[in-house]
Amino acid sequence: MSSADETLDRIKAQVEEETPNDIEIESVAFEGPELVIYTPDAQTVANRDGIVRNLAQTLRKRINVRPTQEALVPPNEARARITQTIPEDAGVQNLDFDRQTGEVFIEAEKPGRVIGRHGATLDEISASVGWTPEVVRTPPMESSTVSNVRNYLKQEREERRDILQRVGRQINRPTTADEDWVRLTTLGCCREVGRASFILSTPESRILIDCGDKPGAEGEVPYLQAPEALAAGPNSLDAVVLTHAHLDHSALIPILFKYGYDGPIYTTAPTRDLMGLLQLDYLDVASKEGRTPPYESQQVRDALKHTIPLEFGNVTDIAPDIKLTMHNAGHILGSAVCHFHIGEGRYNVAFSGDIHYKDTRLLDGAVNDFPRVETLVLESTYGGKNDYQTDQSDSERVLRDVINEAYEKDGKILIPAFAVGRSQELMLVLEEAMRKGDIPTMPVYLDGMIREATAIHTAYPEYLREDLRQRILYEDENPFLAEQFEQVDGGDEMRQDIADDEPAIILTTSGMVTGGPVMSWLRLLGSDPDNTMAFVGYQAEGTLGRQIQRGQDEITLGDTSGPRAERVSLKMGVETVDGFSGHADRQGLESFVETMHPRPEKILCVHGDESSTNQLSSALYQKFNMRTHNPKNLETFRLS
Ligand SMILES: [Zn+2]
Repeated sequence: MSSADETLDRIKAQVEEETPNDIEIESVAFEGPELVIYTPDAQTVANRDGIVRNLAQTLRKRINVRPTQEALVPPNEARARITQTIPEDAGVQNLDFDRQTGEVFIEAEKPGRVIGRHGATLDEISASVGWTPEVVRTPPMESSTVSNVRNYLKQEREERRDILQRVGRQINRPTTADEDWVRLTTLGCCREVGRASFILSTPESRILIDCGDKPGAEGEVPYLQAPEALAAGPNSLDAVVLTHAHLDHSALIPILFKYGYDGPIYTTAPTRDLMGLLQLDYLDVASKEGRTPPYESQQVRDALKHTIPLEFGNVTDIAPDIKLTMHNAGHILGSAVCHFHIGEGRYNVAFSGDIHYKDTRLLDGAVNDFPRVETLVLESTYGGKNDYQTDQSDSERVLRDVINEAYEKDGKILIPAFAVGRSQELMLVLEEAMRKGDIPTMPVYLDGMIREATAIHTAYPEYLREDLRQRILYEDENPFLAEQFEQVDGGDEMRQDIADDEPAIILTTSGMVTGGPVMSWLRLLGSDPDNTMAFVGYQAEGTLGRQIQRGQDEITLGDTSGPRAERVSLKMGVETVDGFSGHADRQGLESFVETMHPRPEKILCVHGDESSTNQLSSALYQKFNMRTHNPKNLETFRLS
């Protein structure tokens, strides 16, 4: 008998002891971070006051109660009963039975109507059919990513269960180490922006946090071969934790599966979907540019299959001695500040990932309230001493002026933007300005992945700001579905028609003009002085966006050195509107630390160029009298 089986036997005895005698416990199992209890009396356990809560407290585990096979009404019969129970206006689209877990997934347009008051309808369903109902919202905008991910995970259900059970055994293995230390190693994003990656290790476990690429610097990848990282083999890692989907944090995660890693990835559900979208696009761009991608689409699917989605605020065991809690980071949809609790109160470290301190139209500001935290690893993108951004309301006014001027000239407004985050923020600004009459209502064309990324946002309204969530969910005024937003889906022919037509706004990728449909738009619109290009995001050194911003007035498109190279002389107006960044500015970073509860003892300033991390590090030291560092890559800190 393995030690994991012994542990389970012991836990089963404990569960039996803690539950009333009339409840039969058939078996218990680990699935990922959860302890699953199988019982013919699942309904009673779920409904009787306090049973699950008590078990969770006594066992210090997340508990999931599931019915045994005999307790399940056959699917055909169950389908009929469920359909009768749920009110018609819930808009049920699909019922899907998972025999292994005893769950029935109910996809509906209005989950609230399926759930009922205080869960009354759900209770009625499980009492009647024995299956545990799980409600899934039909995205208000069709998203191929969301449906592809859902279908794929459904298809891989059996293998996923094996993965979860293996992960569960790993997390609950008996601990062997008798020493006590915590170390943190930097594998990238120190004194640079890009290739975010860290290793958090104890004598017992090893966690990889983020694994990104460095935009514009092919081949500069995280130091995964370092002795602290994968040198001991890919499965010396207990877990991968992903703060958010941007490629400078997520691009190289699939390569771990190519190397043979088969452990879990912990992140939020929206980050999982956005990560899939962006990684597949990353492969697409690489092959279009004639580069050999570092992994294949199969490894992107492997990453999805191994992802265990977490909700904000849920404390989760990810290793025998490490608990992870994710909190809203305010940066993009699903982005998280990741808090690690190590040992029984031994040490606490929080990784900010990328943060936005203030509320934006799309998201609440970053959470900085924790039970305990000794070390903070803090991003420093705008940590330089002059990195102050304009207030968003001022930025919006400037943008409205730019649009009004271009409209009066009968021109087009071309806005390059990142598909995820900035585009949705701008859509909200434009929709409101048009609704209030601050700018004329005109078509807003969405080109590239923007529409798809927006659809993913509407599939996860609970991650958006309260007022926006209400608009998407309950009042038929989803701003993203406003009439003026139109998808460009007819290629260059459609673009030509748009260019020949009335004034319009064009939101298009890529955000730094490094490729994608914005290049076609430059060809079509660039030589007409009545048109305007408006930059709303950071333009990195070395990108075409930065060159245009600096006044370069001739650009080469297409095969830049070959015979098909095409020169366009730029006569369109060029404007820069600050203040729409997804990152906290210098003031925001200081405020995040100043109002943080509790104040950490130590801060590592990372994810910024050398002067930014340096200046932020010394400012925080002077202002708050705490130990601060701006580490290089490949440094290791002993935290405890
Ligand atoms: Zn980011």
